[in-house]
Amino acid sequence: MIPIAVVDVRESESLVIEVLRSGSLAQGPMVERFEEAFARVTGTKHAVAVHSGTTALVAALQAVGVGAGDEVVTSPFAFVATLNAILWTGATVRFADVTAEDFALDPTSTRKAIGPRTKVLLPGHLFGQTADMGELLPLAEEHGLHLVEDAGQAFGAAFHGKQAGSFGIGCFSLYATKNVTTGEGGMITCDDPALADRLRLVRNQGMRAAGAYELPGLNYRMSDLHAAVGIPQLARLDETVAARRHNARQLTTGLAGTPGLTVPKPLPGRDHVWHQYTVLIGKHAMLSRDELVAELDARGVGTGVYYPKLVFDHEGFRGHPQIPEADPADFPVAAKLAEQALSLPVHPALTESDVDTVVREVRDALGA
Ligand SMILES: *Cc1c(COP(=O)(O)O)cnc(C)c1O
Repeated sequence: MIPIAVVDVRESESLVIEVLRSGSLAQGPMVERFEEAFARVTGTKHAVAVHSGTTALVAALQAVGVGAGDEVVTSPFAFVATLNAILWTGATVRFADVTAEDFALDPTSTRKAIGPRTKVLLPGHLFGQTADMGELLPLAEEHGLHLVEDAGQAFGAAFHGKQAGSFGIGCFSLYATKNVTTGEGGMITCDDPALADRLRLVRNQGMRAAGAYELPGLNYRMSDLHAAVGIPQLARLDETVAARRHNARQLTTGLAGTPGLTVPKPLPGRDHVWHQYTVLIGKHAMLSRDELVAELDARGVGTGVYYPKLVFDHEGFRGHPQIPEADPADFPVAAKLAEQALSLPVHPALTESDVDTVVREVRDALGA
């Protein structure tokens, strides 16, 4: 079986052992080292480590003071973490449609979703490519909104040379399958020192110094053990991104022209880091997307379906008081992507022969 993701943390061992022997396992000097390196890579002044991508989003929203009565505009074609983080703050969600080219917020639809109570614009950078920050950043500025980027899949991606997570408040996930991982983990990036200070308080019970609690907070801290897993991966980020790009090019060369299949096209000015290689399986393809998933599974090719439903369309969110009543048909592009998107293996552990196998099996299954 060719898996959709492979975890490779071989060079972390010595640093992890160093932490184990130090006897100091919680947040400490290793987290600080990781934060400094992370800020450098993302071209931001501050990076604040937390224990998941979800808590990165929660902390970012908390730090800008989002709560009941506020609205957050985001995409319905997303992982549930984004929605859950917004709901957790007490704010109301407003959805806008996406574009089929970048799977991210469509600026025209986004403008329509912004209202008098909107406080935050929360675009996600999906699959390793940034959203259209050339339009979304000015839109946030024009309406005086905080910009929180869900960069969970976009570490290292850039828009016209500017890194994902450096436009507003960047929220990263370091979950096991992400391009850089600590097993579980998250990071928040920003340039504003006052905001970074607030994030550090929110992360640690609102504590300024021993016995001095400035605001209500929780424990979102990352441990030094986790930071030690992540640090060595930053040093070879260029190498892993290059391998993903190489695999993506090979997949596109091999798959272009397959009947009913649309290959992903990196947009001009956007540095794609290929967290996922996501094709669309159109209505006229020989198999539906879901039939193709089963067929590829039988042929030994792992796939991922991100995301089969719009986020508000899951049972657990129906009738939620912070989610406006919506129908997938209200977001036609997102609804089409939910039906057609299929991610194929693109990770650095693939051999040339693995990539050839993926291409051959997909083409064959679709009658090419
Ligand atoms: C992975 C991911 C998250 C959630 O991160 P966790 O670390 O699993 O909490 C949020 N948003 C996006 C886009 C992600 O890919």
